[in-house]
Amino acid sequence: MAVLPILEVPDPRLRQISSPVETVDDGVRKLISDMFETMYAAPGIGLAAIQVGVPKRILVIDLQEPEEEDGEPVRDPRVFVNPEILTNSDRDVPYTEGCLSIPDQYAEVDRPDRIRARWLDEKGAAHEEDIAGTLAVVLQHEMDHLNGILFIDHLSRLKRDMVLRKLAKQRRELAKRAA
Ligand code: ZN
Repeated sequence: MAVLPILEVPDPRLRQISSPVETVDDGVRKLISDMFETMYAAPGIGLAAIQVGVPKRILVIDLQEPEEEDGEPVRDPRVFVNPEILTNSDRDVPYTEGCLSIPDQYAEVDRPDRIRARWLDEKGAAHEEDIAGTLAVVLQHEMDHLNGILFIDHLSRLKRDMVLRKLAKQRRELAKRAA
């Protein structure tokens, strides 16, 4: 396994439309395990293949939610190959989102709170499920990446510019510290 470099805005590759996976083979499984290692190292709760520069419709998610309110995070790795949303609820809920490609910036995004989705797992087996709560939000965020969409695209222009300005400022400060 290997930790891969994560692309950050404004890398144009993040705007690419990813292609469907034709066969879930060992090459795909190797990429999936590298994606998990990269996501856990970041740390993050979701990662799309394009974020490590591979334009394939592959996502990994692990909410690492503790079983008890203040317990230790429990790993629950989930793989979504060629995911599709079949239906979504009419009700949008706000959720504060962040993205490993827009480091340390967060903003509230409204998305449907419940979706029905279909995908393949790392063995190539098909799944179809109703998904709600945090997993529904994270899955929709990651699926956006497959279509070249970032969470900041869901914000007003004013809020988007604010997030990007804060990111630019943070990068200048990091560069100063490194100098
Ligand atoms: Zn993201």
